[in-house]
Amino acid sequence: MLFRLSLHGDELVAGRGQPGRGAWVCRGSRRCFDLAIERRAFVRALHHEPVVVGRHDALWRELEAGNAPGQGVGG
Ligand SMILES: [Zn+2]
Repeated sequence: MLFRLSLHGDELVAGRGQPGRGAWVCRGSRRCFDLAIERRAFVRALHHEPVVVGRHDALWRELEAGNAPGQGVGG
């Protein structure tokens, strides 16, 4: 199970059903999320450098809230 992130302008947003390119991190794994940022995995996945400085915690909370179980599968 994975969390989806996508790019809106220069910002990463969390949640399924968002338009645009998506990047994925392991569901429930803050470590995976942090590693993806450290390794700039989002740059490779999204072909754009997202602005995440200072937003790690906020993004993580969005991920946990926006990808909650019961919101459907696929995507
Ligand atoms: Zn992972």
